Amino acid sequence: MKIGFIGLGIMGKPMALNLKKAVYDLLVFDIVKSSVKVLTDAGAEAADSIKEVAEKADIILTMLPNSPHVKTVIAGENGVLEGISSGKIVIDMSSIAPGVSQEMSKLLQEKGVAFLDAPVSGGEPKAVDGTLAFMVGGPEETFKKVEEILNVMGGSVTLVGDVGSGNVTKLANQIIVALNIAAVSEAMVLATKAGVDPEAVFNAIKGGLAGSTVLNAKMPLILEGNFKPGFRIELHIKDLMNALETAHDVGVPIPLTSSVMEIMQALKVKGHEKDDHGGIIQFYESMADVKVRRK
Ligand code: NAD
Repeated sequence: MKIGFIGLGIMGKPMALNLKKAVYDLLVFDIVKSSVKVLTDAGAEAADSIKEVAEKADIILTMLPNSPHVKTVIAGENGVLEGISSGKIVIDMSSIAPGVSQEMSKLLQEKGVAFLDAPVSGGEPKAVDGTLAFMVGGPEETFKKVEEILNVMGGSVTLVGDVGSGNVTKLANQIIVALNIAAVSEAMVLATKAGVDPEAVFNAIKGGLAGSTVLNAKMPLILEGNFKPGFRIELHIKDLMNALETAHDVGVPIPLTSSVMEIMQALKVKGHEKDDHGGIIQFYESMADVKVRRK
């Protein structure tokens, strides 16, 4: 069985490398040729086009930035739809608008191709370790066929519902993460300006109810002033944009999400959009004129 992998960025590259290590026959494509070389050096085959990936692979995985990229890769000129044939499976692991997942699924279904939306949580370290959390939308029958492949890249793989449900779950995940980082930032700036060592605050609260995976992951980096991505603020803006649109479509006001969105927009104006989303704290630091760093 040949697996096609399109989109070898921060996440896609280590995910594809893990599939290669698990001895899958891998055919890869990205517009950035240096990323393709990392995979061919590891023994994968490079395709000249997306269409070629769709023609030759049995299962096609995509890991792209956002909805427009997924539309281009699947439905664009020389794209997946042009090369694919009935009986194959497409799994989009990008975090995109749930409505676009459903749109892509319909187009593929017309060609007899099954589709799953399977976004992930966990970031680059978990992509490298093969311990990502997959949230999957689509038919159970298709899910069962590919579960083993997703398990190579993931520590948990959960079917949450029909096509689009994976990305609805991811939007919920991204709201919780963004608000959690903002809460940590607000609290730590307060503690620091009030004269308490932020590392001591972290150590005192991490085992209690305020403790969280976000706190444990981001606080050590914040204390070093290390905002190298990781997960870029511009990608989180994209996710919150999708969350706001989807929420308003289904009639749900999400006021806290819109506040954090504006904080991220302010950081973008100041040139921080390529920083890790832990860099949200820089907004609070700038307002309060204090830096939350290790003493
Ligand atoms: P990235 O920008 O590093 O990688 C995207 C890759 O897609 C790039 O290599 C780019 O060249 C390629 N690409 C874009 N258009 C293409 C096209 N038309 N044809 C072929 N390749 C194309 O992004 P990333 O950080 O790897 O994130 C990918 C997805 O995973 C995003 O939806 C993101 O929100 C999600 N995600 C990222 C993280 C993270 O920590 N980085 C964590 C969880 C989920």
